[in-house]
Amino acid sequence: MLKILFLDQSGKPGGAELCLIDIAKPYRDRSLVGLFADGSFKTLLQENKIPVEVLTNQSISVKKDSSFFLGLNSLKQIIPLIIKVVKIARGYDLIYANTQKALVIGAIASFFARRPLVYHLHDILSKEHFSLTNRWIAVNLANHLASVVIANSQASQTAFIEAGGRKELTTVIYNGFEPKIYQTDESDIRQLQQELGLVGKFVVGHFSRLSPWKGQHILIDALAQSPPQVTVLLVGDALFGEQDYVQQLHRQIRVLGLEKRVKFLGFRSDIPQLMAACDLVAHTSTFAEPFGRVIVEAMLCGTPVIASKAGGAMELIKPGINGFLFQPGDSQELAQVITACLHQRHNSATIAHNARKMAIQRFNVSNINQQIAQLLSSKFR
Ligand code: UDP
Repeated sequence: MLKILFLDQSGKPGGAELCLIDIAKPYRDRSLVGLFADGSFKTLLQENKIPVEVLTNQSISVKKDSSFFLGLNSLKQIIPLIIKVVKIARGYDLIYANTQKALVIGAIASFFARRPLVYHLHDILSKEHFSLTNRWIAVNLANHLASVVIANSQASQTAFIEAGGRKELTTVIYNGFEPKIYQTDESDIRQLQQELGLVGKFVVGHFSRLSPWKGQHILIDALAQSPPQVTVLLVGDALFGEQDYVQQLHRQIRVLGLEKRVKFLGFRSDIPQLMAACDLVAHTSTFAEPFGRVIVEAMLCGTPVIASKAGGAMELIKPGINGFLFQPGDSQELAQVITACLHQRHNSATIAHNARKMAIQRFNVSNINQQIAQLLSSKFR
């Protein structure tokens, strides 16, 4: 079994971090996850008995759109961090960078520690998501220093290649999920619906950090155009300080008079139960989503899902067969699908049933982990 030093910049559990828990688990007896920030992600790793160390207590700015990936000011922070990672990496067979800043530190450390580098790409390297400089740095470090780039979807792979990345480095491996976790008893669903005051409502859930490109405002606009029994649950927090957007959402809800039809639940750990308590899950990103864990999770819960027609979502959903797609940002089309699902529950139940069957096969965590193990052992053994 390989000894792997996993690196991730985030202290908070976004999609890339939740995916890393599943990837690191089979290697946990001989591996370490190094983080560049403290926070609840560390606790989650500990709960999963995955060794973890916070490698710096000065968090490196995590704004994806900063004009320079690592400003000169941060050199003072990153040099000691690189030295530390080099020392630690010598005790491991390879470095596995799970985020962009982890790639920067991991790539330089892999060079000095003479350890191979794997880059797990969870992002779409397009101009909507990253500045030109950031894309250039990521692609060049990967091209010159990584042995393997694991793309989390074809959309992420394509964007990497279009940004100048070497195709032959890349392999697409989707996120894995444990289907059992997504089964909830009817009695638990009813209890949750009662607790949250959802009985008799048609509940549309949105499960994402609160951030403009995740498009919660599109769903609120669609709600204003949907029948009165439709209610929205917004599950997730502003993980990266997007407080202005949260204020904006509250204002929008007030102006539209929707206060009684929207509930903010904040960050939750009972996603499977909450999704099972929804009649529909909406995924409303305004830019292409690299993968969209939420879409697969909804499928596994047996809840119908509608997503923006872009990026990874298009690889997950065949419209009318295992879910619904709508044009990104088109709240009117979204409202039409919500209304259709409300009136044709039999049809959406069939679609959700197909989706669940497909998702159990396609995204089973044991198959996905096997794909990763095979890839790593073919390259590094
Ligand atoms: N999530 C969660 N609690 C919340 C909101 C979201 O655990 O309150 C999880 C969600 O279930 C999903 C992940 O966060 O697994 C988000 O991943 P996704 O790929 O959808 O988006 P990302 O955060 O990577 O942009």
